[in-house]
Amino acid sequence: MSELFERAKKVMPGGVNSPVRSFKAVGTEPIFIKRADGSKIYDVDDNEYIDYVCSWGPMILGHNYPLIEKEVSKAVKGGLSFGAPTEKEVIMAELITSVVPNIDMVRMVNSGTEAVMSALRLARGFTKKDKIIKFNGCYHGHADSMLVRAGSGALTLSNPDSLGVTNEHAKNTLIADYNDIDSVLQLFKANKNEIAAVIIEPVAANMGVVLPEKDFLHKLRKLCDDHNALLIFDEVITGFRLSIGGAQEFFDVKADIVTFGKIIGGGMPVGAYGARREIMELIAPLGGVYQAGTLSGNPIAMAAGVTQLSTLQENKEIYQKISMLAEKLADGLKKTAMELKIPICVNKIGSLLCVFFTGETVKDFKTAKTSNTELYARYFNLMLKNGIYLAPAQFEAMFVSNAHSEEDINKTLEASQKVLIDMKNEGAF
Ligand SMILES: *Cc1c(COP(=O)(O)O)cnc(C)c1O
Repeated sequence: MSELFERAKKVMPGGVNSPVRSFKAVGTEPIFIKRADGSKIYDVDDNEYIDYVCSWGPMILGHNYPLIEKEVSKAVKGGLSFGAPTEKEVIMAELITSVVPNIDMVRMVNSGTEAVMSALRLARGFTKKDKIIKFNGCYHGHADSMLVRAGSGALTLSNPDSLGVTNEHAKNTLIADYNDIDSVLQLFKANKNEIAAVIIEPVAANMGVVLPEKDFLHKLRKLCDDHNALLIFDEVITGFRLSIGGAQEFFDVKADIVTFGKIIGGGMPVGAYGARREIMELIAPLGGVYQAGTLSGNPIAMAAGVTQLSTLQENKEIYQKISMLAEKLADGLKKTAMELKIPICVNKIGSLLCVFFTGETVKDFKTAKTSNTELYARYFNLMLKNGIYLAPAQFEAMFVSNAHSEEDINKTLEASQKVLIDMKNEGAF
C-alpha cells in the first residue's frame, strides 16, 4: 500500500483527489480500497473493515446494493451520456419534488459544491442582494464564497480561508455562530437590506456532528422572514438521511432553497438544488440566473440516484432501523468511556454520530475545537488496526447504513473498548 501511495504522490497533489482522504489529520498513510460490499470495505491487501465513512454519506443502503448495481448496468448498455433530455431525469425530479417538502422544481448538477454555488447565485438573483450569512464550522463545498472564515471580531470583515480566494469574495460572506441566534440578528442589523440569504447545514456534520438546539432553526426561519432574506438548507448530508424529506421534514422547518448531494446520487457524482416554483423559474432558460452543465442529469448517475431514492421511499422503516443502530453504537461508546473515566462527548441524530475527545458539550465550532485531535488520531489508527474504518479526521461524521448489522455494531463496540483500554494503559488519559 505504501508503494501505491508513493506512486500516487508523484502524480497527484498529496496522492489524493480530495484532501481528507490523505489521512493527514491522523498522521498516517491512507489505505487504498479495492472493493466494498454491504457494510464492509476491503483494501488492496484484502484486509476487511467495517465502514463508517460510507463514501462520506452516499452509501446509505450499503455498498454494492444489488438493485442499484442492476439498474446502473442496464443504463450503461444504453449509452453513457447524450447531452439531451431523458425520461430518467423527469422521474428523478418527480421523485424529489414528491418527497421533499416545499420544493416544486429541481435542477440536477454534478456535486454538492456545484449545488451550493448555484443556490447562492439563485438567492442573489431572486433577492437582488449580495451578502450571504454562513455559520462558523459549517462546510458548503469549495466555491470561493464559502471558503471564508470569520474576521477577528464578530462583526468585522471576513477573511479568505484558502489561497486564491479574493477579498472581494470574502467580503460578501458574513460569519455567524452555530446555535447562536443573536449572532445572526447582529449581522442582519449591521447589514440592513443587504442579506440575500442565510445558508446552514440544518445538522452541522462537518465540524463533527453538531445538533441544532431546540427552536434554533425555527428562529432562523423567522429572522429570514423578518428581513426578506432566503433560508438555504444545505442538505447535502441531511437530505434523505434524517428522513426521506430531509431536515425540513425532520424538524418541521421550511427552507426556501435546498441543496442536495451525496445520497442523491447513490454513489455517483450528483448534486441538486430545488425551491418553490417562483424562485426556480428564475433559472435559465426560463429566467436570468445562468447555470448549466454538460453532464448534469447524466443517465447512469440518474439510474443510481433514482433507484436509491425510490428504495428509501418504499422502505421508510430503514430510517428507524439505522437510527436505532446508531443509537446502540452511540450509547455503547459513551458507556465504555464512562466506565474508563475517559471524557468524551458523543453527538448523535438519526444515523449520524460523532465521538469528540473532549469533556465539553459540543454545540458549536468553538466547543468542537476543544477536542483533542491527537487522541482522536490515536483512536482512529488503533480502530483501523482492529478492522474499523472511521473518518480519518476528528471533525467528520460517522455514517450508519442499512447494511450495518447488530453484529457490526457489537464488534465495533468491542474494538472501541479494547482500544480505549490500551490508550488508557499507555497513559493517553
Ligand atoms: C460534502 C458537502 C458539500 C460538498 O459536496 P461535494 O459533492 O463534495 O462537492 C457541501 N455541503 C455539505 C453540507 C457537505 O457535507
